[in-house]
Amino acid sequence: MDRKDIKSMTYEELEADIIEMGLPKFRAGQLYRQLFQKLKTSFFDMSDISASLAQTLSERYVITAPEIISKLVSKIDGTEKYLLCMSDGNMIETVLMRYEHGNTVCVSTQVGCRMGCAFCASTKNGFVRSLEPSEILSQIETVTREHMSEEGFRVSNIVLMGIGEPLDNYDNVIKFLNLVNDKRGLEIGYRHISLSTCGVVPGIMKLAKEELPITLSISLHAPNDKIRSENMPINRKYNIEELLSACREYQKICGRRISFEYALIDGVNDSVEHAKELAKRLKGIMCHVNLIPVNTIKEKNFKKSTKNSINLFTKTLNDSKINATVRRKLGSDIDAACGQLRNDHIKTNE
Ligand code: SAH
Repeated sequence: MDRKDIKSMTYEELEADIIEMGLPKFRAGQLYRQLFQKLKTSFFDMSDISASLAQTLSERYVITAPEIISKLVSKIDGTEKYLLCMSDGNMIETVLMRYEHGNTVCVSTQVGCRMGCAFCASTKNGFVRSLEPSEILSQIETVTREHMSEEGFRVSNIVLMGIGEPLDNYDNVIKFLNLVNDKRGLEIGYRHISLSTCGVVPGIMKLAKEELPITLSISLHAPNDKIRSENMPINRKYNIEELLSACREYQKICGRRISFEYALIDGVNDSVEHAKELAKRLKGIMCHVNLIPVNTIKEKNFKKSTKNSINLFTKTLNDSKINATVRRKLGSDIDAACGQLRNDHIKTNE
């Protein structure tokens, strides 16, 4: 029989399973503390679990703990990029960013991606599979474990902006959010979590109904359907108008400011006209626009916008009362925008 993925179980599920095994209920509390707070990866390492009980538990459950294949640390700002290997040999990436307001971990939600955005490295090798809740969680745990000896180290923020489309792995992502927020676990507040989507409209509507106080981030990247459909295939299914009305609806239900990501690509979407068009479209949505000079990826010939166009674009949005800032780039010396580390690894092993 396949062992159960214990770290994908909620407290209530674990408790029910413990009772089913004929064990006392309090064991669930002990296990949860050992697994989700002390981050133990073996039942035999748990101080309050006897060796014979550890044996029984390890026959019933598997503890998800990826292996670190490589870890790059930026000398400039301490950003860390991890290439992690899952138990089936698949690789994903995780990034730790050390902001003044706290440590932020960027997690992957899938192995590869099927969204096919032209500028994105994560989708170049196609889609392999979705990650389990425990596998998404394990990325934060791995980073935390690496800093165990650092007094007071804590991950306070999470962004679901790594490899994969979170809303294409809906149930596991929701369960992950639940697990990471649990006060018997890492207890990271929903307000400190951002979920980014390329625009899966039904997923956005479903998420709205969960009423979680997380930040919704939309990868917009274009002011109109022509440019967006050329670079983001999802736009041919749900166009900008449908996407923005889903955002308005989301905001009505959740009441939270929405974040729009906009990668500035030289000569593609970065003119003053584009900025004006964008401002018009976003009018009435309480939002913030994150402008990101596009990261050049090896597989595609997109160039960053010039400093001048970036400034003009930002100014045009701000003049139209749209709150916009240019995102500071972290870890530029370990240059590996999400998905690139994994792609390089796949290539060298071919
Ligand atoms: N699939 C989700 C989650 C990924 S988040 C989404 O699309 O939102 C990763 C963010 O980085 C997205 O906003 C994505 O559009 C952006 N991105 C991808 N490739 C990029 C590149 N080359 N330069 C700048 N941003 C990029």
